[in-house]
Formats: sequence, C-alpha cells, structure tokens
Amino acid sequence: MDVILFGPPGAGKGTQAAGVSEALGIPHVATGDIFRRHLRDGTELGELARRYMDAGQLVPDDVVVRIVATRLEEDDARGGVLFDGFPRTVAQAEKLADWLHEHGRRIDAVIDLDLADEVIVARLGGRRTCLSCGATYHVVANPPASEGVCDRCGGEVVQRDDDREETIRARLETYHRETAPVLAWLKDHARVHTVDAAQGIDQVRADILAALASDS
Ligand code: ADP
Ligand code: ADP
Ligand code: ZN
Repeated sequence: MDVILFGPPGAGKGTQAAGVSEALGIPHVATGDIFRRHLRDGTELGELARRYMDAGQLVPDDVVVRIVATRLEEDDARGGVLFDGFPRTVAQAEKLADWLHEHGRRIDAVIDLDLADEVIVARLGGRRTCLSCGATYHVVANPPASEGVCDRCGGEVVQRDDDREETIRARLETYHRETAPVLAWLKDHARVHTVDAAQGIDQVRADILAALASDS
C-alpha cells in the first residue's frame, strides 16, 4: 500500500508515522528527515537544502523528486511506502503519481491531518527533536521521560533551528501558498480521509487506523 500522510507543519505527521508504518508494514519516508540527515553528514545536498530550510521555504522540486526516486529504488520500498512531508507541491504530486503508475502502483490512500494555524504555532514552538533518530517530542504535550534524552534511542533532544518563531511564520505562509493546493489535487486523484489532528495523540492514531481499515 502507498499512503500519504498530509498536513501542515506541526500537524503530527512524524508523531503518527511510526505507529502507522508499523501497522501497515511499510517504511516511513520523510523528506524532511532525509534532508536533516544530509545536513548532519555535511553533504552537498545538505548544504543546498539548508538555505531553503532555514528560510522556511521549499527545497526545489527537481531536487526533492530525485531524492524520493532514489529512496523508492531501495528494496524495502517495493511493497509500498508511507510518505510524510511529500508531496508538498502539485508538481511533486504529479511526479509521484507518474512514478507509481510506471511501477504498477498508485496512491492508495491519503490521510489529511487537519489543524488550525494557532494550534500549529503552539505545537512547533514547543517541539523538540532527537538529533539521532528524528523522533519528535513536545515540551508540554509529549515530553521525553528524561529531559533532553530520546526515549527511543538515547540521543540528544533539541529544538530544531527552523522551529523558532520567525521561521515558523514563514513555513506556515509557504504551506498555505504552495502545499495546501496539493490537497485539492489529491482529492481528484486518490481517496482522502480527513482526520481531526487537534485531538490527543492516541485518538488521532485510532482515527487514522480506522480510516485506513475502511479502505481495505
Ligand atoms: P515539518 O515536520 O515541520 O512539516 P519537515 O521536517 O517535513 O517539516 O520539513 C522541513 C523542511 O524541509 C521544510 O521546511 C522544507 O524546507 C524542506 N522539505 C521537506 N520536505 C520537502 C518537500 N517535499 N518539498 C520541498 N521541501 C521540503
Ligand atoms: P509534523 O511531522 O506534522 O510536522 P510532529 O509530529 O513533529 O508534526 O508534531 C509537531 C509537534 O506537536 C511535536 O512537538 C509533537 O510532539 C506535538 N504533537 C503531535 N501530535 C500531537 C497531538 N495530537 N496533541 C498534542 N501535541 C501533538
Ligand atoms: Zn532518538
């Protein structure tokens, strides 16, 4: 199954991805995580992405599509993928649909995590992220058991540079201008389930799994 977790920054895509990926038995592919790994490793791609990420803008489509295509060639991606943070433009969505079609696959389901802007700002401002594995926490809603230490891998948990106030605003603008229109495109090309992302983490997870179960 190929599934897209769609929604604004801070909607809870990363938080929900681990459970959904496990439940469906497909790998979690998050373009933001891939870019952050390149940043950490100091690659050329990481340097290129940094400029856009720091400004709250999107990395150019050709670059994003290339890294996703490379990821999709890996063995574990043959039976389907859970996409998180991709596609973020209509051009990316079209390229993804083409790639899947060429490989006898399609976008089987889209989960649209719906959340108001005020809540987004509060979530991103309190978000903390593991430098090693990418797991996300929240200072109030979902803190790690021991402050600054990842529950999952023991890595260091810090605030992402782009989770500071000014960049959060820029990312929201980018979302409304470039990414929100992708939802209309997806509704014309796949089955979209809207989930109320303002609920507690467990309820959101239950709603996502129920929506996906109703598809199969
Ligand atoms: P969030 O979890 O807050 O939605 P991500 O970790 O998904 O943020 O993305 C961080 C940054 O990486 C984005 O602000 C953007 O600069 C870049 N990025 C991630 N995915 C994409 C994509 N599909 N297209 C363009 N840029 C992307
Ligand atoms: P995304 O990947 O969509 O950008 P994240 O999963 O990183 O979003 O979540 C953004 C922030 O909101 C994190 O700090 C996370 O711990 C917190 N969060 C996620 N889901 C919920 C929820 N249902 N209720 C409260 N806080 C949440
Ligand atoms: Zn970790």
